[in-house]
Amino acid sequence: MDTRPLFLANWKMNLVEAEVTSFLTRFIPLAPPSTDRAVAVAPSFPSLRTASILLEKTGLEVAAQDLCHEERGAFTGGVSAAMLVAVGCRYVLVGHSDRRQIWAEDDELIQRKMRAATDQGLLPVLCVGESAGQRQQGRTAEVVEKQVRAALSGIPLDEENPLALAYEPVWAIGTGDGASPEQAEEVHRQIRELLQEIYPGRASALRILYGGSVTADTAADLMAQPDINGLLVGTASLEPDSFAAICRCPLGSGPP
Ligand code: PEP
Repeated sequence: MDTRPLFLANWKMNLVEAEVTSFLTRFIPLAPPSTDRAVAVAPSFPSLRTASILLEKTGLEVAAQDLCHEERGAFTGGVSAAMLVAVGCRYVLVGHSDRRQIWAEDDELIQRKMRAATDQGLLPVLCVGESAGQRQQGRTAEVVEKQVRAALSGIPLDEENPLALAYEPVWAIGTGDGASPEQAEEVHRQIRELLQEIYPGRASALRILYGGSVTADTAADLMAQPDINGLLVGTASLEPDSFAAICRCPLGSGPP
């Protein structure tokens, strides 16, 4: 099972294909060796193949930002898990808060996307997290537990392509106001305990990433937390030097 800490760039709807090429040309020599950590980028669909070709034999990997919950058929605009595998994707984000909020994706659809990804051997990164209002009401644990349980319901753990989770508090995404390492660790520990119940004996090896306004200045302190096993980075991943500095941060002690 791949337990290397994972650093994942979520480029959202930024960077056209030529910009992806320039980014990766600059980034590849700056990236850390993939021996003790995994690094992946998630461009938008039209640039996935270009990214895969550029990253071939570098040890760096490609992720998609979303997928369709069905295998094939009349789903105009949909992109299936098999299509993603065919263009060289290893990971796919599932249930990002943008998808939950803007496209109104619910827990049931997210569970179906998890199933679609794992059926094709794609490694899903399930995103969960509470809103500012839910945190103020003291509902963080309840909200995150519901999201995790619903998305993982009936999803077997594939040891070859183990799913990962990303705790991304909605209030921290794109705001410049990330969670403190202690705030993040508290929720990561809770998620780890839940995973222990869902996948007994195997939860300690599963990666739980933190995402939300991560920068090169905050990465190391976050990674020093015992239950933080990687970072999902939006804004600060749009510039090669800044994403490389994050990927090169000292690692913590790893999974407990
Ligand atoms: C994200 O959108 O997944 C994200 C983590 O963005 P940012 O780093 O900009 O908060």
